[in-house]
Parts: sequence; C-alpha cells; structure tokens
Amino acid sequence: MAQKKTAIVTGSTSGIGQGIAEAFAAQGINVVLNGFGDKDAIEKLRQGIADKFKVKVTYSAADMTKPAEIKKMVDDAVAEHGSVDILVNNAGIQFTALVEDFPAEKWDQIIAINLSAAFHASKAAIPYMKKNKWGRIINIASAHGLVGSPHKVAYVAAKHGIMGMSKVIALEYANDGITSNAICPGWVLTPLVEKQLQDRAKENGTTVDQEKVALVAEKQALHQFTTPEQIGGLAVFLVSDAAATITGTSQSIDGGWTAE
Ligand code: NAD
Repeated sequence: MAQKKTAIVTGSTSGIGQGIAEAFAAQGINVVLNGFGDKDAIEKLRQGIADKFKVKVTYSAADMTKPAEIKKMVDDAVAEHGSVDILVNNAGIQFTALVEDFPAEKWDQIIAINLSAAFHASKAAIPYMKKNKWGRIINIASAHGLVGSPHKVAYVAAKHGIMGMSKVIALEYANDGITSNAICPGWVLTPLVEKQLQDRAKENGTTVDQEKVALVAEKQALHQFTTPEQIGGLAVFLVSDAAATITGTSQSIDGGWTAE
C-alpha cells in the first residue's frame, strides 16, 4: 500500500471492530470509528488510537439501522479523509430464542444491523473505490455464516446473507481493483458473547467462568477464544498486496468449528 489509506470500520467502539481498527492504525491506515457507547469513552478511544499510531482517526455516530446515516458516514469520511479505501462491515448484535418465540422486531433489527447495513455501506463506498481503482471490502460474518445453531434464526440468516452479498460484490467489481471477502470468526470474548455467557449461567445455575469453558468446547475443536487482535491481523492481511487476488472468499478463524 504505497499511498495513505482510509478505513471505515463499523461497530468499532467495542470488541472485534475495535481490534480491527487498532490493527489498521498500527499499519499507518487512517480510521473512521463507528458505533454506540459513552461519548467520553469514545473520544478517549479515538484520541488514544490517533496518538499511539500517529494516524488520523475520526468518529461517525451513524446508526446502522438508518440507511441515510450510513450514506452520510461514507460521504463524510471522503470529505474528511479524501477517500474511503477500506470498508469493514462489522457492526452486529445478537438475540437468542426459538423461532416460534422470536420477536418480529428483533428479527427486523438483526437483519438491519447485521445484513442490510453492509449493503448500504458497500453501495455508498463502491463508487469512490471504483474511481480510485482500489478498494477492499471485508464483511465480518461468522461461523454462523457457514453453519447454523439453534436459537439464532435471525443472526444465522443475516450471516448467511452477508456471505452471499460478499460474493456478488466480488464478482461485480473484480476488475475495478476492488476485492470483497468475508471473515468467519468462531468464539471471541466480547460484550456480545459475555451477554450469552451470563444468560447461560443463569439458565444452567453455573458460573460465567464455567460457561466460558463449556461454550467453546461445545463448538470448537480448539478450546480457546480467538482475540479481536487476531481478527485484526487477518483483516490487515486481506488489505495487503499479498491478498490482491483473494476475492469472493471466506476466511474461517474459528478454532476448527466448521471443520466437522
Ligand atoms: P460487540 O458487542 O463487542 O460490538 C458490536 C459493535 O457494534 C459495537 O461497537 C456497537 O456499538 C456496534 N453497534 C451495535 N448496533 C449498532 C448500530 N445500530 N449502529 C452502529 N453500531 C452499532 O460485538 P463483537 O463480538 O465485537 O461483534 C462484532 C461483529 O463480529 C458482529 O458482526 C458479530 O456478529 C461478529 N462476530 C462475533 C463473534 C464473537 O464471538 N464475538 C463471532 C463471530 C462473529
């Protein structure tokens, strides 16, 4: 990457998105942070990354359920940074229940944030990437983009959906210098998973620590959480010159979850 690049990472005020944003910044890539949270904590995070890695870091409060705000996030990034070279569609939420008990509004919200937002952001960013003949779109799917699990109907549907979207973008823009790939993590210990651990502990009369062991062992051959830093490392590889012809693929980083 000869020239200074700019990356938008949606949902980067926490967890995996933050790990990816920091990994990009460590490579000298300017970053647009996005996501919810305490205003002062977000400003501290933004300033901290900018100071540590000597890159430009801005923040967009765009709500990923609102297409107009998503388009504005992309346009503002170009206005403030000069380009959008990398887009990481990462923002996501979870809700668990049997299909028959699954609230319709939770379905709509998960599809909006985990799937439709990635479409709206890609649609807004691609024209800028085309103009520069260079772009990298990374969609944070999940092992649940490849296989299902009970109680996660909306999440699994959204993650399978984003895998399809990622392939279509790869095909349509293959000769415009734009690649599109999905990353499929297994378990990563973030607030999204901590909530599930608390629910399981309450339901099973166990402790969160016991559930940490049980959760990973249930799905993965390798009994270890993947870290946001490790996912950041994979994202850095996907935007590197070595990955210039990797497009339309999914990269599993799941401790063997989907090998069975
Ligand atoms: P997290 O809860 O730590 O972070 C989610 C981020 O999304 C936060 O920054 C939050 O503010 C943001 N967000 C939520 N709703 C938003 C909205 N409407 N608009 C803008 N931002 C919004 O979760 P995480 O585990 O880091 O998850 C990040 C992504 O990784 C998600 O797409 C998730 O499905 C995926 N993933 C997570 C795991 C895991 O084990 N944690 C595994 C596979 C995939």
